[in-house]
Amino acid sequence: MVNERMKKLGSERSAIRELFEYGNARAAEIGRENVYDFSLGNPNAPAPACVREEIERLLRDTKPEVLHGYTSAQGAADVRQAVADYIRKTFGVPMRPDLVYMTCGAAASLTVALNALCEAGDEFVVVAPYFPEYKVFVEGAGGKVVTARSDERFHLDLNALDEAIGERTKAVLINSPNNPTGAVYGERELAALAALLRRKSAERGAPVLLLSDEPYRELSYGAEVPYLMNLYENTVVCYSFSKSLSLAGERIGYIAVSPQAERAEELYAAVCGAGRSLGFVCAPALFQRVAAKCLGKTSDVEVYARNRAVLYDALTRAGFECVKPEGAFYLFVKSPEPDAVRFCERAKKYELLLVPSDSFGVKGYARVSYCVSSEMIGRALPAFEKLAKEYFGR
Ligand code: PLP
Repeated sequence: MVNERMKKLGSERSAIRELFEYGNARAAEIGRENVYDFSLGNPNAPAPACVREEIERLLRDTKPEVLHGYTSAQGAADVRQAVADYIRKTFGVPMRPDLVYMTCGAAASLTVALNALCEAGDEFVVVAPYFPEYKVFVEGAGGKVVTARSDERFHLDLNALDEAIGERTKAVLINSPNNPTGAVYGERELAALAALLRRKSAERGAPVLLLSDEPYRELSYGAEVPYLMNLYENTVVCYSFSKSLSLAGERIGYIAVSPQAERAEELYAAVCGAGRSLGFVCAPALFQRVAAKCLGKTSDVEVYARNRAVLYDALTRAGFECVKPEGAFYLFVKSPEPDAVRFCERAKKYELLLVPSDSFGVKGYARVSYCVSSEMIGRALPAFEKLAKEYFGR
């Protein structure tokens, strides 16, 4: 009666959601303050003041029928103009509003972009470990995921990418700053990736596109985050305001097609067509306008910087191994036993909720999300110490 694949997707929760629900049940039993939930990437720094100010101003000064009415399918013209102006001024790319498509966050940006590109038999290369929904989005568009492992510090491994990109590769999907590892790819490795993609495109006789998933662009702790369109012409940026402005529940983001992309206008037409066919037209009108006025602003990322320092120091002092994250708000800790699922089960004994890495496409790690209150981190540290004692005896 129903589509079996959709039924399966809807019936089995993601490992992250499963853990989050477990945390809620546990909180009801023993009290919220006794559960240390590091499972979700739900930003806890408040949205910057401009968000509230702009909402209030819009409610006061705009006719409701205009404010809450449909915008163009691809987003209000003045909003797309503002996004294009911002990209041009900030990154020096000659972006135009007719290459910008407003979306309901990065999930929609990716889904629309993948559907715009994918034809039967197409492959999409992702760098492991990767955001688990990539598999859902790529397969939902009818494509196949091919993985390329990152190197031991979770940066790009050009040899692995060279092997993974083949005749059927339509695009490579990257995410920097990265969930779940916190890696921020530098200019040199990205330039090397661009050179590889140019070579592969020439071999294929058609461009291999670069999809850049950028919900964490502004969350970097010192490392520069290069703008991909300046390094590779056939780039599509999938942006979201969920993390930068702490607006995850409002569902707002955009797709920007590089003006230097081969047949950029056709690519954009396919984006509009995919948005139409998926019903992702006219992103939330109020938040299109709010986002347009808050471009370049962020919530207080210092909160995450402090959390990162405290957790990284405490965990490594306790004996855990972890590459210091350069961005986003996740620590990717090496599991002290080969089976990360068992490690995370053991952590639950101390009410620590950590996500095993298996659903990120690699084994042997656990993700610790630190977009949580600093106070909860303080309370959780003795629990991490007890967990460490089980493995390292100190
Ligand atoms: N891509 C990555 C790497 C993410 O971590 C997330 C959310 O956590 C998304 C995409 C989806 O973001 P959004 O909430 O804007 O749809």
